[in-house]
Amino acid sequence: STIPSITLNNGTRIPQLGYGVWQVPDDEAAAAVRAAIETGYRSIDTAAIYENEVGTGQAVAAAGVPREELYITTKLWNSGTRDWSGEQGRDAVLREFDASLAKLGLDYVDLYLIHWPRPMHGSFLNVWKAFEELYRDGRVKSVGVSNFGTEQLDTLLKESSVVPVLNQVELHPHFPQTALREYHAAHGIATEAWSPLGQGKELLAEPALLEVARKHGRTVAQVVLRWHLQSGVIAIPKSVTPSRIKENFEVGGFELDAGDLAAIAAVETGKRLGPDPQGFDWN
Ligand code: NAD
Repeated sequence: STIPSITLNNGTRIPQLGYGVWQVPDDEAAAAVRAAIETGYRSIDTAAIYENEVGTGQAVAAAGVPREELYITTKLWNSGTRDWSGEQGRDAVLREFDASLAKLGLDYVDLYLIHWPRPMHGSFLNVWKAFEELYRDGRVKSVGVSNFGTEQLDTLLKESSVVPVLNQVELHPHFPQTALREYHAAHGIATEAWSPLGQGKELLAEPALLEVARKHGRTVAQVVLRWHLQSGVIAIPKSVTPSRIKENFEVGGFELDAGDLAAIAAVETGKRLGPDPQGFDWN
């Protein structure tokens, strides 16, 4: 299977389908990521808070795939520092990054994301300036954000010189983020979908989606992932089950037509599975 890639605003490329490892315990991550790489995935999405950067790094080291063919994303967690302002905040971000890199056993990551904006603290711009340093140093090939709203993106566009390559947000047919995607497109920011399968819950049992899947002789998960790809979105589905890891990668060889896309658009509920990022402030 050939997975298309997307060219980001700094000229680098990211596979449009990756493998996410949230909730995979560290001692299972190596086997799971290994299975994904053997299946053909080349992009892996982890985060400091997932506490599986060690296992993820072990799989990368053991995979027998040249490092430059892999695309590794990790994220800065909220508690990286409680004080994200000024020089102290900057130093804390750099320390957190070093810790992630050491756990992964890598000398660079392809993408580093601010995990949540925590707008109530007003410190994400200071964090972003430290991200710019990491980017200039080359230890991060691209910098981006996660769970940012248009207000926070406006601030970055106005106050800094590096535009995030992408914003990773909750996105699936129940919650398609139409307005945010339009904003991204207007500013050269790619959209990456977390929980692209709606966490495998009600979304995969939607009768309208079952109908589309039946028509194409595919599973609902494959139809939903195909929808992401045809929407120009980057998707990072998670599974620890080898057969599903494979199923989720087999999203080529068919095309959703206008009728299918209309049926998928009609399942929108506007309901999130995760928290509203504008108010989210866990440590
Ligand atoms: P997902 O939408 O990828 O769903 C995963 C779940 O769906 C699995 O645990 C399994 O129960 C089920 N599933 C997977 N494949 C299936 C298949 N083929 N058939 C039936 N069921 C299937 O949800 P997710 O894990 O929340 O999101 C994917 C990734 O996104 C995460 O692993 C993580 O890397 C990232 N993420 C990021 C954030 C963020 O704040 N940036 C938040 C949540 C998730």
